[in-house]
Amino acid sequence: MEKSWQAAGFRQYSGSQIDVYYNKDICSHSGNCVKGNAHVFDVSRKPWIVPDADRYEAVEQTIDTCPSGALRYVRKEEAL
Ligand code: SF4
Repeated sequence: MEKSWQAAGFRQYSGSQIDVYYNKDICSHSGNCVKGNAHVFDVSRKPWIVPDADRYEAVEQTIDTCPSGALRYVRKEEAL
């Protein structure tokens, strides 16, 4: 799964319990991610996505509001 997101042009941002994938070519710049969770998504920081900055459930919840599909997540086994 993870390899396929990267093969599809997504960049990986690894967390301890969840990995986040982002594809800038798909992003519609709605801002839902940065408005929804400024701890995890902060464009003034490098890397701009830090999955461990909040609980993985919160990361998932914010990513579920992404209207374009530019953000994806894969939860790691330990978190299940
Ligand atoms: S929510 Fe999705 S489409 Fe909107 S800015 Fe974030 S990544 Fe881009």
